[in-house]
Amino acid sequence: MQAIGIDIGGTKIAGGVVTELGEIVAERRVPTDAGDSGAIVDAVVEMVRGLRAEHPDVVAAGVAAPGFIDAAQSTVYYTPNIPWRNEPLRARLAERLDLPLTIDNDANAAGWAEFRFGAGRLASDMTMLTIGTGVGGAVIVQDRLLRGGFGTGGELGHLRVVPDGLPCGCGARGCIEQYGSGRALLRMANEVADADPTGVGRALADLRATRGELGGHDVSDLLQAGDEGALAALRELGGWLGQAAASLSVVLDPQVFVLGGGVAQAGELLLEPVREAYLAHLPARGYHPEPEFVIAELVNDAGVVGAADLARVHAAAR
Ligand SMILES: [Zn+2]
Repeated sequence: MQAIGIDIGGTKIAGGVVTELGEIVAERRVPTDAGDSGAIVDAVVEMVRGLRAEHPDVVAAGVAAPGFIDAAQSTVYYTPNIPWRNEPLRARLAERLDLPLTIDNDANAAGWAEFRFGAGRLASDMTMLTIGTGVGGAVIVQDRLLRGGFGTGGELGHLRVVPDGLPCGCGARGCIEQYGSGRALLRMANEVADADPTGVGRALADLRATRGELGGHDVSDLLQAGDEGALAALRELGGWLGQAAASLSVVLDPQVFVLGGGVAQAGELLLEPVREAYLAHLPARGYHPEPEFVIAELVNDAGVVGAADLARVHAAAR
């Protein structure tokens, strides 16, 4: 049984036909106009119709969208970058598509793909942190995606790690998103450059002076080159993520933590401080079995694969 997966991102909409083994057999991509809700719906409808015309045997379509989705997998409560507020997205699509449809949070879809076909495939309990511009999360408990009673469970980016800490886009303060995201890494890199512009922060300060401001690629280039200043910023970031993971372990007790998103491309450089901080903050240290910390395996297509598989599973259970 094949299903269609659609991943609505801030800059593009990606779609594909996905097999039961998680293989993409057809793929499409269009740019997103994030400010225009109607245009996004039109683009999704067109993409599903096009993919279905080529693969008439698909049994369902799953849509992964950013933001908070309800437990019935039909309404988007809130999306930060697209003007959706209590948007009945499934109903809007169902009016125009004669196919079983499900809507899921994009980080949940990516996490599900990682659990089924990627770095979490050998575990029954997996926690994923997606470290992009912000921090996304997905939780698998005993082989099931945790959605929570209202559908918004697993929003791990808004776990509070610092009481009265930095203000977050969600309206609260001290969320891990402000300490463990790509945006936070840039802030930390700038702080290293400010603190010691002729010493450890020199390469960062020089690059900032040349560029006008530091970008994510600048920091990752310096990390790959082994620059001490960039590594110090990454260690600080990893320290916060490790602390958050220790708190998450108390509740979820996963066998594996999967780190995904652009910042996770740093690989072992990131995993090392995460593991260290995790162990330092873990209750019953030394007596608690240690979970694995690994980097996500499905880098670009996880949202498409996960959305399709969730839709397929949902259709099969009907
Ligand atoms: Zn927050």
